[in-house]
Amino acid sequence: MPTNNALYIVATPIGNLSDITLRAIDTLKYVDFIAAEDTRHSAKLMQHFAVKTPMLTYHDHGGVQQSARLLELLRQGKNIALISDAGTPLISDPGYRLVKQCREAGIKVVPIPGASALVTAISAAGLASDRFSFEGFPPAKSLARENYFSELVQDTRTLIFYESPHRLWDSLQAMQGAFGAQRYAVLARELTKQYETFLSGSLSELLAQLQADNNQKRGEMVIMVEGYTAPDDPSGISKEASEVLQILLEELSVKQASALAAKITGEKKNKLYRWALSQT
Ligand code: SAM
Repeated sequence: MPTNNALYIVATPIGNLSDITLRAIDTLKYVDFIAAEDTRHSAKLMQHFAVKTPMLTYHDHGGVQQSARLLELLRQGKNIALISDAGTPLISDPGYRLVKQCREAGIKVVPIPGASALVTAISAAGLASDRFSFEGFPPAKSLARENYFSELVQDTRTLIFYESPHRLWDSLQAMQGAFGAQRYAVLARELTKQYETFLSGSLSELLAQLQADNNQKRGEMVIMVEGYTAPDDPSGISKEASEVLQILLEELSVKQASALAAKITGEKKNKLYRWALSQT
């Protein structure tokens, strides 16, 4: 059973109800109150798992009163579980303010991990997952969105975005404008649900697939974009070799400098020679 008197951050399924954990169900049944983003929406989940715990509403923008009320209950020794409509609370969902306030007030906060669309999407996308940047929802207004994407153009990490169906098309077009039509991307739709789909290809191919099939614009979706890779240096020599060669060229002929730089760096003499010629 959970530890006494804490705020539990409970992940709920993102589609398939079987993705709830046993610990999540136990916690939801055990706590005194469940703080939910939308109590009517979450009532269906509670009914499915026979959870009868009373529910309260919580939004980050619900004003001081909402979090003050929850903090007061926690101070009185009550246990509260925070859930969102789907997935992990605080991940593009309410909870940040409440968790921060609890930590500041010395109230225990316990995570009960489970589903999250971003981890579900990247785990099956086939994109580099050693480093990625979760970007949440891109700005809704077109100018802000363009500026936002342009700042990410040279980010080498896989970029992960949430998007709503009615902004998907505009967002993908803005991504194509910023990242280029050839940048590889994956669109993960309706994860864990009946129509789960992964579409992949260059951004222009993805747009073409959506244009050909309107159904692909529907439902919940995660957009993942491959990170930036620098185009190969046309000279084909390493940064170290070009630096060494530049120094040697200050004192020696092209031929001598290239030969010496080849010995120092291990690069091919001919390549260095051609590069040195292009610099003079
Ligand atoms: N807290 C949630 C989580 O842990 O993933 C995210 C909540 S956010 C308000 C909702 C967005 O998450 C959707 O617009 C969509 O981008 C993504 N999402 C949620 N469920 C999804 C699913 N089943 N398939 C694809 N994307 C999903």
